[in-house]
Amino acid sequence: MTEELYKEDCYLKKFDAEVDKIGKGYVILDRSSFYPQEGGQPTDQGKLLLDNEEVDVQEVRKEKGEIRHYLSSTDGITKGDKVKGVLDWNRRYKFMKLHTGQHLVSAVVLDMYKADTVDSKIHSDYAEVVFRPVSFSEEDLEKIENRCNSLVKEDRGIEVVDMPRDEVEERMEPGRAQLDKIPSSIDPLRVIKIEGLDLCPCGGTHLRDIEEIGGIKVFEKESLSDEREKVKFRTRYTPVQGTIGESREEEFSGQ
Ligand SMILES: [Zn+2]
Repeated sequence: MTEELYKEDCYLKKFDAEVDKIGKGYVILDRSSFYPQEGGQPTDQGKLLLDNEEVDVQEVRKEKGEIRHYLSSTDGITKGDKVKGVLDWNRRYKFMKLHTGQHLVSAVVLDMYKADTVDSKIHSDYAEVVFRPVSFSEEDLEKIENRCNSLVKEDRGIEVVDMPRDEVEERMEPGRAQLDKIPSSIDPLRVIKIEGLDLCPCGGTHLRDIEEIGGIKVFEKESLSDEREKVKFRTRYTPVQGTIGESREEEFSGQ
């Protein structure tokens, strides 16, 4: 069982681990900060550094209860090897911004239009959310964007807490999330709280406060059947000092 380090600290860019198991094209580590593709958030990528080489982590997936790191090569890797994992931080940080942005857009639309979030997905440089029941005009999109951008400036903190399921049911705004889709055996739930704005069970990766989103640009809507409306948005680009591509010495510094 891999210890999922990103659940404790979404900002962990590098970590030490040990190889627990090797499969066809993948390894399983005793601990990992790589986020596996799930819940509409794409896979993390990066590198594993071994004694004398480094390999690319191309995809991370949860399969058969395991977190599998699919590598460019598993040649020469053996069980018990000590490795250092390094995330492609630019990629992950962009997804954290888009995903946290999705919490914000969902909360704002629920508040302004009483529309539920029924689906969401993150793409390489934008995110989409499906709402129901609602139909947006161009003016509505502008109102949503303006409300989000004014909230972003308010610097509201984000907290991740474990909360008993019945308390979540009591405190969450009706329509904010589909609790019946989460197996009833999961209790307590991992809940994301945006100060005074949102409370929602979620297993994804989040920013520390919504100010880091930088800003939201709603650029498209698409009307679907059953009074559903898909909204697409981007978050403001923030240059991030990446950890990938730096020299190996730099990658180890500050450890
Ligand atoms: Zn989330």
